[in-house]
Amino acid sequence: MFHRRTIRSIYLIWVIYLKMFVKIIIVISLILGATCNDTKAEGDPEVVDRPILITPHRIDLIREYSSIHYGGVIENIIPGAIVVHWTASNSCESTYDYFYPEETRDEEMRSCGKLNVASHYLVDRDGTIYQLTPDNLLNRHAIGLNWCAIGIENVGGVNDKEDLTDEQLAANEIIIRHLIKKYPTIKYVFGHYQQEYAKTVGIWRENIPDYFAEKPDPGPVFMSKVYFAIRDLPIVGFPVSY
Ligand SMILES: [Zn+2]
Repeated sequence: MFHRRTIRSIYLIWVIYLKMFVKIIIVISLILGATCNDTKAEGDPEVVDRPILITPHRIDLIREYSSIHYGGVIENIIPGAIVVHWTASNSCESTYDYFYPEETRDEEMRSCGKLNVASHYLVDRDGTIYQLTPDNLLNRHAIGLNWCAIGIENVGGVNDKEDLTDEQLAANEIIIRHLIKKYPTIKYVFGHYQQEYAKTVGIWRENIPDYFAEKPDPGPVFMSKVYFAIRDLPIVGFPVSY
């Protein structure tokens, strides 16, 4: 009897240790899994993730916008171009707040789709880079080009003054180099004000006749500096004076 109880005790202790061992293995697996699922790769730039509101409603609005302007449903873009902007505002916070809601409050814009404006990246005056949406989400930042273009907004340009900073230039170079490396499909880099030239290379798509707005951003001075900074990259730039 004593012998059988001893064997049973040893068996129970062994089961307890086995359960503990299994739990430890599960915890280690979860920790390793979380680490491995981090999409940041070595060499990726310092980017602050600061997502705007993205619920299934924004996806519906993206579908509505692409149906109106491109004649088909596009949610995710295949990046083919990078469009550089300025915000015409000196406040990163107010720009973020403006982009945050899913629906635009602008009545004129709503008549051509209720999707709010937003860009993928927002660069503050000190060069801090914020990522607002995934690279491949269609955003409303450049008429005729949203179906393929990643947008970079730079805080500044109030009253069309070409005042973007050296820190912003460095940040734009970092983002552009990162994106060109990540998406070999990207062929064009240009400023919003050069949008007319985009029509000449065949990447302009717009279903609504005369749906167009002239833009001054981010100005030829800044784009000259951007092109010089990335002159070794295999991209097509547009004439800065265009
Ligand atoms: Zn713009």
